[in-house]
Amino acid sequence: MTMQVQPVTLVTEEDLLNEAMECPVDRELDTRPLAQERAFAFWQKDIPEDYWHLTAAEMKERIARAREALGRRCVVLGHHYQREDIIQFADIRGDSFKLAQWAAQQPEAEFIVFCGVHFMAEAADILSQPHQKVVLPNMAAGCSMADMADPEDVYGCWDELQEAGIGGVLPVTYMNSAASLKAFCGRHDGIVCTSSNAKRVFEWAFQRAEKVLFFPDQHLGRNTALKLGIPLEEMAVWDYTLPYGSLGGNTVEQLRRARVILWRGHCSVHMRFSVQQIEEARRKYPDVKVIVHPECRMEVVQAADMDGSTEFIAKTIAEAPPGSKWAVGTEINLVSRLARENPDKLVFCLDPVVCPCSTMYRIHPAYLCWVLDELARGRVVNQVKVDEETAHYARLALERMLAVP
Ligand code: SF4
Repeated sequence: MTMQVQPVTLVTEEDLLNEAMECPVDRELDTRPLAQERAFAFWQKDIPEDYWHLTAAEMKERIARAREALGRRCVVLGHHYQREDIIQFADIRGDSFKLAQWAAQQPEAEFIVFCGVHFMAEAADILSQPHQKVVLPNMAAGCSMADMADPEDVYGCWDELQEAGIGGVLPVTYMNSAASLKAFCGRHDGIVCTSSNAKRVFEWAFQRAEKVLFFPDQHLGRNTALKLGIPLEEMAVWDYTLPYGSLGGNTVEQLRRARVILWRGHCSVHMRFSVQQIEEARRKYPDVKVIVHPECRMEVVQAADMDGSTEFIAKTIAEAPPGSKWAVGTEINLVSRLARENPDKLVFCLDPVVCPCSTMYRIHPAYLCWVLDELARGRVVNQVKVDEETAHYARLALERMLAVP
């Protein structure tokens, strides 16, 4: 199948600035020195030893000094799930896609320091301009969900489907995936989606093919397919842990019947939310509104009052009437920030045992300090660079997404 790629309509810088929340919030760091987080913070081992023991005040002072030296040559982006001690240094915060787009529209910024996880820095590199360099402060900051879709496993799945005679399949990857998988979609007439536009992207896909192969998050895929009226009987789950030749644990008949083939990936943060937590929140506050991210399980999304992306959650709560109550099913750093920024409302996390995204947490201020110091000294460390060919096809899949009305 051949498709024409529509001209790309990028959101304007003004749109992005309006939607992005203002940064920074000037406050004291409470993060402990890196050496003291050793037990649970994953280290990029080659960070020089003098950064291990910097106190909060020292890190803050050095980051400010490096930023001043770099001036407009450097922008710092902060994902919503970053800890407050990082967010306060960000020029802008938002979800991964908006941040990448915003950075690409700052031509004077030679360096884009992405405080998020690896796939986000890759996407920023793909969308950035040739003179811009993207830096990830800690190269150990990956995403466990993205890692569940190993590109070789996805290529194997694709081959198995072809060998089994399952045709008319269009690959759709979630933004939370490796650049090589975005490129795979670009090469096979496929597309990328975010949690904001998944429904529209699925509709686009079904105008062009009978079936969608969606990776890596089975929950976003299932929740989106249900919104389109596709019953569970027309969905198959591809178990990537099974050996080649197992059809991901399905029969040929199941795959023929399936309209959506869901990769068996998940987000460990959003898997923590449960229907019991929703019932408990409603018992405690009968007028509470429950809002969750669509990476949560189907039962949770269906029991909630509403679901949507991080941007949707932030906007909905910001616009809610004073005195309203919100039980939120998403990462704790964002929920805590929303609670602080909406003091006229009650905002709390559905999960009483708070747990941040452990990979986002790997961006400790010491790493930010180190990469900024190096940039100020004229050295680029931790650059994330996607090779030309991969970037070309990945961009194709991203451009198709941007052209979806
Ligand atoms: S919250 Fe989930 S999907 Fe997002 S970076 Fe963390 S593990 Fe990945």
